[in-house]
Amino acid sequence: MARPVIMSVDDDPEVLNAVERDLRVHYGSDYRILKSGAPAAAIDVARQLQERGTPVAMFLVDQRMPGMSGTELLTEVRKLHPDARKVLLTAYADTQAAISSINDVELDYYLLKPWHPPEERLYPVLDDLLSDWKGVARVPYEGIRVVGSTWSATCYSAKQFLAGNHVPYQWIELERDTAIQEVVRPLAGDPPQLPVILFPDGTHLVAPSSRQLAEKIGIQTRAQLAFYDLIIVGAGPAGLAAAVYGASEGLHTLMIEESATGGQAGTSSRIENYLGFPAGVSGSDLARRATDQARRFGAELVTAQEAVGIRREDPYRVVQLSDGSEVSTKAVVLAMGVSVRQLNAAGEQSLLGAGVYYGAALFEAATYRDQDVSIVGGANSAGQGALFFSRYARKVTMLVRAESLSRAMSQYLVDRIAQTKNIEVLTRVEVTGFSGSGKLEKIALRKLDSGEEQAIGAAAAFIFIGAAPRTDMVAGAVERDDKGYILTGPDLPLEKDRPKGWLLDRDPYLYETSTPGVFAVGDVRAGSGKRVAAAVGEGSATVSMVHRYLETV
Ligand SMILES: Cc1cc2nc3c(=O)[nH]c(=O)nc-3n(C[C@H](O)[C@H](O)[C@H](O)COP(=O)(O)OP(=O)(O)OC[C@H]3O[C@@H](n4cnc5c(N)ncnc54)[C@H](O)[C@@H]3O)c2cc1C
Repeated sequence: MARPVIMSVDDDPEVLNAVERDLRVHYGSDYRILKSGAPAAAIDVARQLQERGTPVAMFLVDQRMPGMSGTELLTEVRKLHPDARKVLLTAYADTQAAISSINDVELDYYLLKPWHPPEERLYPVLDDLLSDWKGVARVPYEGIRVVGSTWSATCYSAKQFLAGNHVPYQWIELERDTAIQEVVRPLAGDPPQLPVILFPDGTHLVAPSSRQLAEKIGIQTRAQLAFYDLIIVGAGPAGLAAAVYGASEGLHTLMIEESATGGQAGTSSRIENYLGFPAGVSGSDLARRATDQARRFGAELVTAQEAVGIRREDPYRVVQLSDGSEVSTKAVVLAMGVSVRQLNAAGEQSLLGAGVYYGAALFEAATYRDQDVSIVGGANSAGQGALFFSRYARKVTMLVRAESLSRAMSQYLVDRIAQTKNIEVLTRVEVTGFSGSGKLEKIALRKLDSGEEQAIGAAAAFIFIGAAPRTDMVAGAVERDDKGYILTGPDLPLEKDRPKGWLLDRDPYLYETSTPGVFAVGDVRAGSGKRVAAAVGEGSATVSMVHRYLETV
């Protein structure tokens, strides 16, 4: 922890130096001693200390200064460091002003000048005040602080990006912290742009994009080389497995990931059916281990970059990125997975991130402790979500279109949900809208059998209603089925004996798309298993197909 600060302010340099010297002698080993000759400069320093999260233990301030009295200065700095002890240095003539400020600024002590000898007249008083301060001081958080509003979509995205990339941060609700308001309001602008992210080095970002945030915290966002043996698009389980095998077998491998490694699996609270983890494993733990493993073998990872297109420049393939840059490669593995399908209910857009969430949003669990939440959907991911939130929420209501959970959910989850007292399952219902002022308050439902409309109260709705493949970036570049999933190997439509437009004198390899040297694995591939193990298996197996292909070019 940075040493707490004791700050003295006096316009008379002689007095200021004397105070500083006495403070340094007695407190210099435990506290940082700062001095300032002008009230305005002192306020600036106090603000910077607050921005950095450095606590101020005490202000010793002269009462009679030009432009601003000591009492006025203490009023200002108190807003920034409410726990700091406040001492006024007064001449005998100012005693009355000091006494009357005891109430105004909750003055802790007034010290008559001169205070010599300090062993008798200064240190005993300050020791006492500092011991009081230690009793109430909040231990400052020294990492990244995200300041914003729970009901803001941009704050939600920033938290999601940091949590997904395993970057620890402290969330501070702006409305509840008056000291932080003093710091953040001038930075946030008017109307305020949130979140304001405060970094331990004293810098800040206002409503940053994922890429700005990634660059600031040192996450790599640009490829180091112009050319690779293998580029993998998407770092979910399939892409991570391809990276581990590709890099461990000597290929110069680059992974490109738009948000955070782990993909859908990374958002799962507990994966219980993945081989080798009898007690289950959290998706974020699995993602972190796999990312470390891929990196250890030398795979490079670029995050906060979306691949937006792919081009063929035989014998090479060129991947285009969202920042306009391009990277070339001999072979590509497409592992973009799927994204949650949109519900498109009334009121949804305006409440996204303000109580309405797509997917698990596990890091929001604490926000909804002891409140009522709903889960929209009835398949495995919805079941896992319901069980996870039931540990925090007062009540979880599952809103399911089918007549029972067994239609689309594994039996072990159905049984677990039946045994969980605070989960209620409403079947044969459809969500028609979300409403609330500034944050979700009510969900409108229609009963599918009777057509009857109904509204239930909910502080949050987590939507898990199936998925659509993320294949816009390869439109026109590789063959897809009518739902957009990428066709590979034997599934490619044939014209005579070979796939349409295929000019090589061989059949496509397993997992190879209609473009030679471009492979597709995991959930994005037509006919894939839509499970973590299946994605990992395909990602691993495709690397031997990549080797076969590389022998031909
Ligand atoms: C909540 C939840 C719980 C689940 N629980 C289980 C379970 O218990 N057991 C089980 O076996 N399966 C489970 N699944 C399914 C499993 O997670 C998926 O089958 C698996 O993650 C698929 O892996 P993937 O790598 O193919 O795709 P994904 O996991 O979807 O990963 C794709 C990655 O590609 C990135 N990406 C997409 N497009 C681009 C682009 N253009 N540029 C850069 N990056 C891009 C995405 O950001 C994402 O990180 C669950 C799914 C969910 C949502």
